[in-house]
Amino acid sequence: MGVDDFANWLRDLARTLHDNAAYLTELDSAIGDADHGSNMDRGFAAVVAVLDETTFDSVDELLKKAGMTLVSKVGGASGPLYGTFFLRFGTALAGAEVSAATVGEALKAGVGGILARGKAEAGDKTMYDAWAPALSAYDEAVAGGADLRGALVAATEAAAKGRDATVPLVARKGRASYLGERSAGHQDPGATSTTLLLESAARTLG
Ligand code: ADP
Ligand code: MG
Ligand code: MG
Repeated sequence: MGVDDFANWLRDLARTLHDNAAYLTELDSAIGDADHGSNMDRGFAAVVAVLDETTFDSVDELLKKAGMTLVSKVGGASGPLYGTFFLRFGTALAGAEVSAATVGEALKAGVGGILARGKAEAGDKTMYDAWAPALSAYDEAVAGGADLRGALVAATEAAAKGRDATVPLVARKGRASYLGERSAGHQDPGATSTTLLLESAARTLG
């Protein structure tokens, strides 16, 4: 597990977000400003362009560069949030051997960055509603002896449930919160892209 594996993940994720861009934007059109798919597609296309032109010596440099690219290329809420995730995820992996345990710690650090920036709490109808159950499921899987892929599969399944559970919620953070009660009955776009991110990781890492 090294630089090439994480680069493969980011490339797979870019393809996945491109293929799901219309879907993510449709979700955002119901409770936001109809740009989540194009934001994510544009940001990850820029990440792939960086991968194409740069050779990285370490996983943490690769992930930090991806994070900085997302922060600089994606406006709106999701760019800084996912950008901070990748910055902290990469920083936490600096000097560490990639394993189920170290990736778990790094995921926690990354999500800590999302919380530091966005101040979301569980149930606010944001991407954190996919991340929170994913982190718990990941830890539980590792405690039960799962390897990296097994832990990522467990995290993905939990994220998908958390994503689905955002439907009835009333948004308390981000643009969707401007709608108040009218935000209920719609799936959160960011919780949806977070589930795609983890699904892609489970497919490509480990
Ligand atoms: P914008 O809302 O600025 O147009 P996007 O449409 O790209 O940005 O992203 C919207 C998503 O960002 C939401 O669906 C939600 O999951 C996430 N989000 C918004 N605000 C926050 C926040 N404070 N904390 C965590 N996630 C948030
Ligand atoms: Mg939007
Ligand atoms: Mg926007």
